[in-house]
Amino acid sequence: MDLKKYIANVPDFPEEGIIFRDISPLMADGEAYRYATNEIVQYAKNKGVDMIVGPEARGFIVGCPVAYELGIGFAPARKKGKLPRDTVEVNYGLEYGNDVLQIHKDAIKPGQKVLVCDDLLATGGTIAATVKLIEQLGGEVVGMAFLVELTDLNGRDKIKGYDILALMEY
Ligand code: 5GP
Repeated sequence: MDLKKYIANVPDFPEEGIIFRDISPLMADGEAYRYATNEIVQYAKNKGVDMIVGPEARGFIVGCPVAYELGIGFAPARKKGKLPRDTVEVNYGLEYGNDVLQIHKDAIKPGQKVLVCDDLLATGGTIAATVKLIEQLGGEVVGMAFLVELTDLNGRDKIKGYDILALMEY
């Protein structure tokens, strides 16, 4: 399936000169959403994943159906102040600023094999922060899956040594 048909390319959002890759048409099409999810499910099966982690908010959209299909758990990584119980946190830079990402301390058990899911890899800041959270808890990141990778931004440089699946590249 040509998934790029389901990405809306929005010029000058959120800033002039940036083409925003909007994944909402893909989510809105049941067949395309299921197809993309199944591609990630197959990838996760080959890696013996125990747990999925996704950064808010579109990481939930990508990661939750994968976890559901595999019958495993999903843990959210969220912006500071959103999670109600004890957390670990990390500061990170992203494409449009700086932020703090947190995860519940009991979200991952030491030694668990974790797949990180997000909609899009840009500079890699968000995913590198998510990896740090998982590793602080003793989890092993066995792979990362994205719908879209923006290759010009060299996000892979921030996550060297990890196995990456990207369903589309721009
Ligand atoms: P990074 O941290 O890799 O620079 O940026 C990736 C994060 O920003 C992802 O969580 C993603 O949701 C969001 N993001 C940045 N640019 C885009 C874009 O063009 N389209 C979408 N859908 N998300 C983006």
